[in-house]
Amino acid sequence: MNDRSPSADDKTSAANSRTSGHKMPESVADGGMADAERDILAELDKALGEHLALLLRWNRKLLLPDSPPPSNGDDIEHDHDHDCDFGAWYTINRHNRLIDQPAMHALAATHHQLHESAKRLLEGRELDGNVDSAEFDMMALRAESFFAQVRRLERAFRTARSDVDPLTGTYNRQTMLGDLNAERERTIRTGIPTAIALVDLDHFKAINDTHGHQAGDVVLQSVAGILQSHVRPFDKVYRYGGEEFLICLPNADMTQCARVLERLRRVVEASPVVTSDALHLPVTASIGAAPMTKGRTVEQIIEKADQALYAAKEGGRNRVRVWRNPEDKKPAEKQKTEPNRQK
Ligand code: GH3
Ligand code: MG
Ligand code: MG
Repeated sequence: MNDRSPSADDKTSAANSRTSGHKMPESVADGGMADAERDILAELDKALGEHLALLLRWNRKLLLPDSPPPSNGDDIEHDHDHDCDFGAWYTINRHNRLIDQPAMHALAATHHQLHESAKRLLEGRELDGNVDSAEFDMMALRAESFFAQVRRLERAFRTARSDVDPLTGTYNRQTMLGDLNAERERTIRTGIPTAIALVDLDHFKAINDTHGHQAGDVVLQSVAGILQSHVRPFDKVYRYGGEEFLICLPNADMTQCARVLERLRRVVEASPVVTSDALHLPVTASIGAAPMTKGRTVEQIIEKADQALYAAKEGGRNRVRVWRNPEDKKPAEKQKTEPNRQK
């Protein structure tokens, strides 16, 4: 084991609009998982608020049919479920892979029934001035069921988001191996190259020792933000260990990969982290990368990226090294790419 492999400690931490202008969340359209889930949570939350307000307006119209609505009360002649924001959002997004789920369709069905009940009640009231008590009870029941289903779904989406590292907002190690194995299979199937990179902050312990653990945390958050915003949209960043990140770069041969990583390295170097005490802390990172290949497991590929990272540290830190298959190299070059990891 080299002296910079993650310690045991490290490893543990480790259709766009309807007439009213309702917009489909961009990240849902893009399929960006974490953002899309956040958007769904926001839509569910909005649905709760909107339907609470709708219920009050329906009840007011039933109780006080002749009294004009308060100045901010919208007209509620139309109570079709697709006339409210939640209904419109569902209609537009129902085939999205995150929304195309039985629980979401059940919620939409309850939502439709709720609007149908309200419509029948309001029409009956207008027609003969009566409020059908059975229908009223049915509407109340459906509203209750709708709210309970929204809350259940919110809980489910929040739980699904536990694949995110709470400190840095990158993906955590729990989902990493599954994702990487799927990516490796895709690479083998399609022949389109994918690379794995390990990013390790240089002398990070010294930042903790000099400025405290909290400043260290701010550095981790800041670098994670830089990595996530400077990789390509389909690259994925994971927190691999304490101050170590793993990046999966699909559709990148080693030349493209080295280019992306060199850009990352430069941005990190050029972006000192500003702490709460207004200190500007310079930060650099060493990066090692390796290609996904048919003949190696994901674990073995990570090991190769780790060897390249070790070479980057040995070479003076703040640099990118790419592991290349020694069989593709002349004997004289092997020494450079297969460093002796025993100190
Ligand atoms: P090198 O350049 O060789 O990578 O040196 P380094 O100091 O970055 O590496 P080392 O492995 O010696 O130290 C990593 C430190 O990261 C030690 C550990 O306490 C710290 N660390 C791990 N997880 C966290 C965390 O979540 N927050 C903070 N603030 N520090 C952490
Ligand atoms: Mg490390
Ligand atoms: Mg380090």
